Amino acid sequence: TKDDVKGYLVRNAFVLLTVTAVIVGTILGFSLRQYKMSYREVKYFSFPGELLMRMLQMLVLPLIVSSLVTGTAALDSKASGKMGIRAIVYYMSTTIIAVIIGIIVVVIIHPGKGTKENMHREGKIMKVTAADAFLDLIRNMFPPNLVEACFKQFKTNYDKRMFRVPIPPNETSVVASVINNVSEAMETLTRMKEEVIPVPGAVNGVNALGLVVFSISFGLVIGNMKEQGQPLRHFFDSLNEAIMRLVALIMWYAPLGIMFLIAGKIVEMEDMGVIGGQLAMYTITVIIGLLIHAIIVLPLLYFLVVRKNPWVFIGGLLQALITALGTSSSSATLPITFKCLEDINGVDKRITRFVLPVGATINMDGTALYEALAAIFIAQVNNFELNFGQIITISITATAASIGAAGIPQAGLVTMVIVLTSVGLPTEDITLIIAVDWFLDRLRTTTNVLGDSIGAGIIEHLSRNELKNRDAEMGNSVIEE
Ligand code: ASP
Repeated sequence: TKDDVKGYLVRNAFVLLTVTAVIVGTILGFSLRQYKMSYREVKYFSFPGELLMRMLQMLVLPLIVSSLVTGTAALDSKASGKMGIRAIVYYMSTTIIAVIIGIIVVVIIHPGKGTKENMHREGKIMKVTAADAFLDLIRNMFPPNLVEACFKQFKTNYDKRMFRVPIPPNETSVVASVINNVSEAMETLTRMKEEVIPVPGAVNGVNALGLVVFSISFGLVIGNMKEQGQPLRHFFDSLNEAIMRLVALIMWYAPLGIMFLIAGKIVEMEDMGVIGGQLAMYTITVIIGLLIHAIIVLPLLYFLVVRKNPWVFIGGLLQALITALGTSSSSATLPITFKCLEDINGVDKRITRFVLPVGATINMDGTALYEALAAIFIAQVNNFELNFGQIITISITATAASIGAAGIPQAGLVTMVIVLTSVGLPTEDITLIIAVDWFLDRLRTTTNVLGDSIGAGIIEHLSRNELKNRDAEMGNSVIEE
């Protein structure tokens, strides 16, 4: 029909524009490098990219809340319970597989040579214990102040007296801070690398985990309220629809923004010369691990469960994947992920609304793989023999650290503290891998978004009966197509 043709053209226009953006951005970036732009000039140059980051982040809060509330309210609690369990099983199992892949590749390739000689360090990091971090993860699920949760990432709950960390005598020479919360840690990281690797449109977001917990509970309650719940259900439905229309507009701007994000990053990145042999091997090891997970494990899983061609599905996600690569943030990518899954891959909205916000917040395969791999690399560099128990500990804490990491640039680097402390590795050795983190972060973010999206496809397939029953029950879907 005419609509099909139109849909086909639009879809391909996006793919074409996005691919062109990446190619032009790369060429532009490399050809401008010779001009050795100042930090200010780079900032001006990447301005269109910064704007894209801001637009996407602007939508994240209303998107998470409205889609989760309507997503849960549209299902009866039994159906959402089943879907929730499927989602959790999928998230946990893929995260654990990712961790195992990370461990296997780093043990086989063994990039760490038992010496820190010739390794370049950037900045310094202070420690919190694993227990502190775990408790804080749980605390943040229940934000005491919802309004504040909307603009503060992870509110600090630590009692400063628990940390006897001396204030650094000279802020400019030693950049150190107690990691009180993710945004503070992010600030520290950004500060440490200010001249080298500024994060475009430095991130400051919402306490997504807390809002997810609240929105699911709220949606469940509304779903059970029948008549009385109708106004709220309509309100969130219509809010969600309006936000998605804004996303549709941003989709047209995204290729331009991505082009400048990529070009800007290439212009400002340091010459790879500073990266020594061990760090180069480490980078390659991470890339191999992520590739195994992203192009073998996840597609295979999709094929085994859904019995459809995974590459067609992944092809539909191209714009989301490239946005993840360009922004390093799975939560900023969330609006685009929604669009790709719903409009191109035709995944049921009741599924995407329900699972995507949760996935983007807690399901991070790439980050989990990365954290386990990095911890073992640091052990190798320190000539630190890990026994089996310690490897298990690393797997568990890497999983937890990936759940705790916010979907923002380089959050995984911060939560790595948990993994390292759990087996007694020196947390200050995180500084050994900071130099390449901006790059690896982009790759793991892309893997994270892929994992969330394939998860939506798989959960939709597994939940087809519940969806059908619900359709029959409602006459037809409450969510109009
Ligand atoms: N940047 C990643 C994400 O947003 C998190 C991480 O640092 O690993 O998914």
